[in-house]
Amino acid sequence: MNQPPDAPALVANASGAAWLEPGGVARAIVHADAALMARAGPPPLLCHAPATAAKLGCARFPALDLLELFAFVHPAGFCLPTVRGLAAALGLAPPDGLSAEAALLPEAARLLLKSLKLDDDDAKREAAPIAAAMARGGWPWAELVQAVLGPAAQAGLDVWNRLPEWSEQAPQGQAGGQPVAPAEARARLTALLGSNAEPRPQQADYTSAVCASFQPREADGEALVTLAEAGTGVGKTLGYIAAASLWAEKNQSPVWLSTFTKNLQRQIDQELDSLYPEPALKARKVVIRKGRENYLCLLNLEDAARTVSGSGESAVAVGLMARWARATRDGDMVGGDFPAWLVGLVGRGRTLGLADRRGECIYSACPHYRKCFIERGVRRARRADLVIANHALVMTQAALHGIGGSDDSYLPQRYVFDEGHHVFNAADSAFSAHLTGVEAAELRRWVLGAESGAGRGGGGRARGLARRMEDLVVDGQTAELLDAALKAARRLPAPEWRQRLNDGAPRGAAEKFLVLARAQVLARGKGRGGGYSLETETGPAIDGLLDAAAALDRDLAALAEPLTGLAARLSKRLEDEAADLDSATRSRIEAMCRGFARRGGVTIAGWRAMLADLGGAAPEEDTKTTVDWFAIERSDGREIDVGMHRHWIDPTAPFAEHVVRPAHGVLITSATLRDGTGDGEADWRAAEIRTGAHHFARPAIRAETPSPFDYGAQTRVLVVTDVRRDAADQVAAAYRELFYASGGGALGLFTAINRLRAVHRQIARPLEDKGIALYAQHVDALDTSILVDIFRAEEDACLLGTDAVRDGVDVPGRSLRLIVFDRVPWPRPDLLHRARRAAAGGAKSYDDMLTRLKLRQAFGRLVRRADDKGVFVMLDGALPSRLAGAFPGGVEPRRVGLAEAIAEVGEFLR
Ligand code: SF4
Repeated sequence: MNQPPDAPALVANASGAAWLEPGGVARAIVHADAALMARAGPPPLLCHAPATAAKLGCARFPALDLLELFAFVHPAGFCLPTVRGLAAALGLAPPDGLSAEAALLPEAARLLLKSLKLDDDDAKREAAPIAAAMARGGWPWAELVQAVLGPAAQAGLDVWNRLPEWSEQAPQGQAGGQPVAPAEARARLTALLGSNAEPRPQQADYTSAVCASFQPREADGEALVTLAEAGTGVGKTLGYIAAASLWAEKNQSPVWLSTFTKNLQRQIDQELDSLYPEPALKARKVVIRKGRENYLCLLNLEDAARTVSGSGESAVAVGLMARWARATRDGDMVGGDFPAWLVGLVGRGRTLGLADRRGECIYSACPHYRKCFIERGVRRARRADLVIANHALVMTQAALHGIGGSDDSYLPQRYVFDEGHHVFNAADSAFSAHLTGVEAAELRRWVLGAESGAGRGGGGRARGLARRMEDLVVDGQTAELLDAALKAARRLPAPEWRQRLNDGAPRGAAEKFLVLARAQVLARGKGRGGGYSLETETGPAIDGLLDAAAALDRDLAALAEPLTGLAARLSKRLEDEAADLDSATRSRIEAMCRGFARRGGVTIAGWRAMLADLGGAAPEEDTKTTVDWFAIERSDGREIDVGMHRHWIDPTAPFAEHVVRPAHGVLITSATLRDGTGDGEADWRAAEIRTGAHHFARPAIRAETPSPFDYGAQTRVLVVTDVRRDAADQVAAAYRELFYASGGGALGLFTAINRLRAVHRQIARPLEDKGIALYAQHVDALDTSILVDIFRAEEDACLLGTDAVRDGVDVPGRSLRLIVFDRVPWPRPDLLHRARRAAAGGAKSYDDMLTRLKLRQAFGRLVRRADDKGVFVMLDGALPSRLAGAFPGGVEPRRVGLAEAIAEVGEFLR
């Protein structure tokens, strides 16, 4: 294939579009004309069809999407979903302007088809049947792709048949008790950095300090915990990797490195290249673990392939998923080598929806069990030296361990919690309980399977309990228990429950309870009509609610009983048939028992405890450990869930109990653990409160390594005093002018989504007119991690975002040189916050601490390397001076007018 496809090319941004006829010259046109031409003529070449249609303000139209072709040709390859991203991935010069972008598309198509042509015969033989299946579904690229690949004997998507099998290995045995001495950890660090590296004394000091968590513990239940704050630039990742890898090697047991964001999981994995430069060795020594809902389930893929019946989109989606399944390193669809933009291209259901999201795995009864990505990952983690996990998985696994509900019966001895400032939030999510419509309907589905469409009767992708355990029902008693569970589950919210709630026509006790909880929220919740979520206290209950709760409790008990009974029956089989059961069947039965324990013993038991407390006397304030409330959750003004919630007031208490106490050594580290009041002891106390150190059996060791950066010289902090924060036009104009002044490379942070959208509406076009691309979370149909990747790659692009962007961005260099905050990020005064603030003595200092920590986090994004420079602008003149401790020593926030701020940004960043 040496000729580009004979098709026009189209690109668009916020201010216009460019159209290129085959062999012609690109011309600028307005959105409306571009939309008409795209819909009228032959499908144009473009990059990201949904985003292009959104820019043109029209519905999606048939197109030759270069990203689909990229996903077919390089299934696990990396490419940003922009024309510049395509150019980078294909080794082309970055296009400058819309016309150049349009001109690049035919060349990109030609190169992609050419690289398919260069593939060897085996690769072509493998790709051809998939292309044929996609051709039947009307894939616009099929003809061109098939012309390169040649004919296929038959269409087929069955890649699972060609995946390698994992093999069972002997258990590792108990971890040894060898300590890691600071001197040897420093020597390991030196080796990791290489002989030519500049000496970094702070990093060596940090490495020595963290060794305290890699010593033998003195007493059962008394983990050795180190709280280690290391300023940005210290190089803490390699610092703790040095100590952790040594401990793992000496003690033949893995260390779990846990992060809050999946982005950092990816970064740690990359840093480990310096420890294991040989890929085969790294594959043995390092494994990334996430919750099972992150991985492709091959049985779901097979089911999806079976239901592809020539329908265009689904054949394309399953074809692209099949290509990726064959190429992926580990089947991880959230991060890893999965192109996240594929979700926007072909739909969530046909991509992320193919994960085992509801615990419907049938384990060894699955024909793909021996090839399953999840099972492979679980086994590799037991033998790896370093397991890169995330806080959510670590906490859920530890919490379920005691009741047999963990996905993996193995619990690590040593942990490193990076992004340790997020331990509180992660524990808050992991140890909370939600008796809501969505959760209860999920439980019903877990038991009964799909009840509508193709999956009716437990068929299709949602396999009900009856189908999952059909071959395990070997006696009358088990059959009776299963029947009882199925019957009881039918009383949980059924499909269309939301509609019935809105209509006030509930079916069954659960829906009735939800109707009344919703009524209580609507009667008493604040902010009705604003499109936001609403919440209210659970008591005093409105008429009828306590009766409905009692009826729901009876229904839940009727479900918990047979689930617990089934767990007992299956456990007995494990004992009775110990000599006869093969290990695959054993582990399947164990997994089923864990599922029953998790639903019956944790989820339902937790819900029943919440219901039981509804009518009871309120506990004394100082004995309260949890807080309950009713809420209606809304998204874009639409109700998506309703129900009752329970959170720990201090979620670090269960974290300390379930995660830290059973461990031997724990390192909690971050660039921002401490508060910034200026009182050293108080600042450390804040770190201890946020990490749960006050619950640990043994006092945590404190370690502090300052950043090597000269923040006073490298940064400026400006507080703008003359922009009215409630005047949307003024705020938008301030963003626009500041972004002009920096020439892009700016991050706009917002405390509310509607204000972000309002600013985006006003500044996108003027910025694009000046050649500055603007991306926005909650506006662009792209995952936040992709937006951050694009922002990082394009030096002069700007990005608007909220919390997830503030906390998860690591953008070294000029791509991030300006941060503009719209308002002081005070905590939201919701019921949970009020309870926590009351528990902290009701003091304003609690709010100050949380706000300072958020500002510290945001400021920390600005300088990631020694040669970075950046300006932090707060558009809210109400920033109190007592929050100035959020910024490092040597950085004095200056209060200035907007004009002065704009001038200073331009001058400082020149
Ligand atoms: S073993 Fe479970 S998760 Fe793995 S492919 Fe089979 S059903 Fe899916």
